[in-house]
Amino acid sequence: MALGVQRFMAGRYGQDTLSRHTVWLALIVCILSMFFWRLPLFIVYMLLLFWAFFRTFSRNIPKRRRELAVYQKFTGRISRFFRLQKNKRRDRKTHRYFKCRCGASLRVPKGKGEIVLHCPVCHATLHKKT
Ligand SMILES: [Zn+2]
Repeated sequence: MALGVQRFMAGRYGQDTLSRHTVWLALIVCILSMFFWRLPLFIVYMLLLFWAFFRTFSRNIPKRRRELAVYQKFTGRISRFFRLQKNKRRDRKTHRYFKCRCGASLRVPKGKGEIVLHCPVCHATLHKKT
């Protein structure tokens, strides 16, 4: 990196996953705007780009970190959901999945009849049929 750019970026937040994903989303919106809703989508595209650049050059690092944490919490939930769906498909012949009231997912072998489950997260007891 050139010294001028380095000096300019000193004390600024820089790139993170959220700003990179925002730029990707902006590019998708830009391509879509070529086909329909030209002006509204173009405005969305500009706003997304502006937001990504604003975050990158921001000096309010704690606030940008909090935004990233919120984003990662959200994307983590989504990827956990899809991982669970994938595992359920993989284990559909051998295991059953139950959801505890605390939100934890419990996997038990199939064909064991009436069973008592103990949630490892909240220690609740569930009576289920496998
Ligand atoms: Zn639980």
